[in-house]
Amino acid sequence: MVREQLLSRDITDERTITAMSEVPRHCFVDDAMMARSYGDYPLPIGAGQTISQPYIVAYMTQALKLKGDETVLEIGTGSGYQAAVLSRLCQKVYTVERMNSLLAGARKIFDHLRYYNIRSKLDDGTLGWPDHGPFDAIIVTAGGPDIPEPLIAQLADPGRLVMPTGDQDVQELKLLTKKEGQVEIEVLTRVRFVDLVGEYGWRS
Ligand code: SAH
Repeated sequence: MVREQLLSRDITDERTITAMSEVPRHCFVDDAMMARSYGDYPLPIGAGQTISQPYIVAYMTQALKLKGDETVLEIGTGSGYQAAVLSRLCQKVYTVERMNSLLAGARKIFDHLRYYNIRSKLDDGTLGWPDHGPFDAIIVTAGGPDIPEPLIAQLADPGRLVMPTGDQDVQELKLLTKKEGQVEIEVLTRVRFVDLVGEYGWRS
């Protein structure tokens, strides 16, 4: 997976590559899907949601430029795979999921793999997690109409945030950077994500 899908493309950050090599992706998918868990595509994880293609996980992770001492917020825990990769690259991961069945599954795997620097909660992640902010980096793994205001407010300065925004079929992956009080937004690539559903996302 790492050689054919990441190194052959534009994943160059050594720490991201190491984390992607170490985290066992097959643990985050159903048994029925296990044989396909390292394939170059997203996979269903139940409740109509998907775990992103490995390349997209690596791409979004790399865009955060983590050095090791950061506190990171993830919105959309899903299978838990992205949070697991992040947990190898920073101090602490806070992750928020709105579907109980998915969150329960992810928590089991975090315990099983002893990824103890991940904290999770069931909530509308478009509101962020104000008690634990500001966050050095924020990653939203579901697509919404715009970057939620509460997340921009909870991003540290300096800080980096990645999130897909657009319509419900196709989105642009945006990188928002906060530096010396200024916010800049860059478009990275086109992507397809499941809906971000919540107060600052799509309405359910
Ligand atoms: N990062 C996940 C990808 C999961 S797909 C992984 O590695 O597997 C996106 C997830 O976002 C879904 O589980 C969906 O339920 C969740 N989601 C959608 N809107 C949300 C919201 N407002 N708050 C928290 N989670 C949300």
